[in-house]
Amino acid sequence: PVRTRFAPSPTGYLHLGGARTALFSWAYARHFGGTFILRIEDTDLERSTPEAVQAILDGMNWLGLHHDEGPFYQMKRMDRYREAVAQMLEAGTAYHCYCTPEEVEAMRERQRAIGEKPRYDGTWRPEPGKTLPAIPEGRKPVVRFKNPLDGEVTWNDVVKGPITISNRELDDLVIARPDGTPTYNFCVAIDDWDMKITHVIRGDDHVNNTPRQINILRALGAPLPEYGHVPMILGADGEKLSKRHGAVSVMEYPAQGYLPEAMLNYLARLGWSHGDDEIFSMEQFREWFDLDHLSKSPAQFNPEKLAWLNNHYIKQADNACLEGLVRPLLEKDGAKFEGNPPMQSVIALMKERANTVNEIADAAMLFYREPQPDPALLTQHVTDAVKPALAQFAEQCKSVEWSKAALAAAMKEVLAANKLKMPQLAMPLRLIITGQLQTPAIDAVLELFGREVVLSRLQKFIG
Ligand code: GLU
Repeated sequence: PVRTRFAPSPTGYLHLGGARTALFSWAYARHFGGTFILRIEDTDLERSTPEAVQAILDGMNWLGLHHDEGPFYQMKRMDRYREAVAQMLEAGTAYHCYCTPEEVEAMRERQRAIGEKPRYDGTWRPEPGKTLPAIPEGRKPVVRFKNPLDGEVTWNDVVKGPITISNRELDDLVIARPDGTPTYNFCVAIDDWDMKITHVIRGDDHVNNTPRQINILRALGAPLPEYGHVPMILGADGEKLSKRHGAVSVMEYPAQGYLPEAMLNYLARLGWSHGDDEIFSMEQFREWFDLDHLSKSPAQFNPEKLAWLNNHYIKQADNACLEGLVRPLLEKDGAKFEGNPPMQSVIALMKERANTVNEIADAAMLFYREPQPDPALLTQHVTDAVKPALAQFAEQCKSVEWSKAALAAAMKEVLAANKLKMPQLAMPLRLIITGQLQTPAIDAVLELFGREVVLSRLQKFIG
């Protein structure tokens, strides 16, 4: 059975790259009816925060990437890691090293000086027939992994293809510090083993850790998972994704009015493809997703495409759902709802052209506040030449059938009678009824406001 995991370090928000890795791991498990595990790698006590844990959980929840097991916290598994370290010492696959950090640094300096790659020189590494130095009194040792000296580590990366690293490139990794706390790669290896992970899908910034983790797993006699390293997400300028390219935290997107469907669809296509398909649901993605169609080259983040997808999902969204998102935004802006048009009709009118929910709310606001037309604009548009037409239109409004079509016909009639062109009536109407010159089609706006509001607002200007 397929078992995948998402294993973020809670040192900041959930960023787009992390969310995409999570999505791929989730989709792979779902595709095979497997298990998706969430593991919080919180052993970096200085940089991990409870807020970051919460941000990760919130982000996963917003995207609907629900885990089947976990969240597991590495800090709660310390006993297990210590036990595994003890086992390895026992088995002779790890050993105590009493070098001080200063000694290790001096060792590296010497190697650099003669142009060698700095690595631990094996002073405390036990070998048959070798006599180890005397243990310095009172000094606490680190535990080092006895990395194979020869041969190589090869794995068939499901994204990048075969990767081979010579063991000569690898150090005898410290797996436990002098105080007994385990180190990063060791915890990951133990966890992937204990959690029976079959496929490790993660960012390619971890490629260098993989041979170390594989060696540790081998030394433990543990089965090896498949590894797939997904290339980074870059900005459109080819630089590493950062604040400059827009929001990097996934949770900034709901705040800006993006729908999770749009974000998921966008991330799914970022570095993975299924022919020319651009728009697809998560059900479809789960069915299609495979590791063969992951791209080997970095993906470029394109905010315009994300906005385009968001517009697509907004247009598809149920107006009642959108109301749930729009209403709090309007409330925050001091919207007045009584006597004003029903929100779902307003949303229906506004959503075609909106890239975000927030844009719908901004546009909808004209229906929920008292219009305050700029006096200079009023002078410019509500001229003496136009006033009689406005008066006639107001008269028509009293009895006309209250529909978009009938209102449009009434306007045409008034225009003809006064030899005016459409904007000469539409602009003053917009200004008087909504307080602004830019609105959706005026007949639609009038229809939504209703007879009473339109008449009372017109009344003030036709004397
Ligand atoms: N905790 C690591 C990170 O946040 C991921 C480790 C892994 O997936 O193996 O980058």
